Amino acid sequence: MVETLKVEVERVAKSRLPQVDFSNLPFGKICTDHMFMADFRNGAWGNLRIVPFGYMPISPATPALHYGQSVFEGLKAHRGANNEALVFRPMDNWARLNRSAERLCMAQVSEEVYVEGLRALIELDRTWIPGAPGSSLYIRPFLFSADEIIGIRPSQDFTFMIIASPVGAYYAAPVKVKIETHYTRAVAGGTGFAKAGGNYGGAIYPTKLANDQGYQQLLWTDGREHANIEESGTMNVMFVIDDTLVTPALSDSILAGITRDSVLTVARSEGMRVEERKVSVKELIEGLQNGRVREAFGVGTAATIAPIEAIGHEGVDYHLPAVEKSSVAPHIYKTLDNLKRGIAPDPFGWITKM
Ligand SMILES: *Cc1c(COP(=O)(O)O)cnc(C)c1O
Repeated sequence: MVETLKVEVERVAKSRLPQVDFSNLPFGKICTDHMFMADFRNGAWGNLRIVPFGYMPISPATPALHYGQSVFEGLKAHRGANNEALVFRPMDNWARLNRSAERLCMAQVSEEVYVEGLRALIELDRTWIPGAPGSSLYIRPFLFSADEIIGIRPSQDFTFMIIASPVGAYYAAPVKVKIETHYTRAVAGGTGFAKAGGNYGGAIYPTKLANDQGYQQLLWTDGREHANIEESGTMNVMFVIDDTLVTPALSDSILAGITRDSVLTVARSEGMRVEERKVSVKELIEGLQNGRVREAFGVGTAATIAPIEAIGHEGVDYHLPAVEKSSVAPHIYKTLDNLKRGIAPDPFGWITKM
């Protein structure tokens, strides 16, 4: 018999919602009133609960703090016409969370725990989903070791949590990115395909160096030769070369973005030529020089599509045609945005109403 896991709910005494300035929402700064937690103990999930968002006690010895035993996800919900939450592809995030967990030797989060947690949190904090165009509720599920031992070994106990943060309209100003040819985000055989906490800490320093040189983001290259483009910050990257939408093929050093898949699926459904293959730095630079690279953009949950205006390589900036001339990125952005907010039909079955 499968035991149904019940979510215990402890509500906040007083909501913080009235104090929130929805016209000024720095990304990820303000979280909703509640958070979801579940414990994995003795090989099983239990103690599903919603508690007020706030501090929580953890052991100073937990390998989550010392050895990066921590994986996470990011997804969005938009407010639908009848105040329902339109959650975008939540089960794809669940599947990826478990692929990350497997690579880090962590417990799988059962479908029931994930879905019940998501439903319970959204039900309680539904009024936090912003309604203004462009805004949404960013949802952050994460899983970490709850062991209390300094030794390095596969953990036995885990905590799974979901927190959520209202985010304002994301104005994706075109960015300058730098092709990184010294530092490495991920290597073949490593953990790049996993949304593992440790992947991000190491990326902050090279990103900071690029920021200091006037670039907003990095274009990561492969760790072996720095000869092929991989992805950008926390986004996958795409190019329009001639009339083809081109993106680096997935590998174990590239994170399989759900936005990446969504953009490719929409493009293919509209008859656009799509290629997932190696994109060498050489091809990219030549294409920028001879005008064959017409558009470049990052794709990820936070911005959906972030246009790139210039790409720096070995001290030279190569400019893309003015973004006003872009046709592919704005069109796919609009298609996806309408679908996500329930304005357009959902032919791919990507929306879960909660
Ligand atoms: C999260 C992430 C992405 C984008 O994934 P989405 O599912 O589209 O949000 C791309 N690259 C990295 C490294 C990421 O962490």
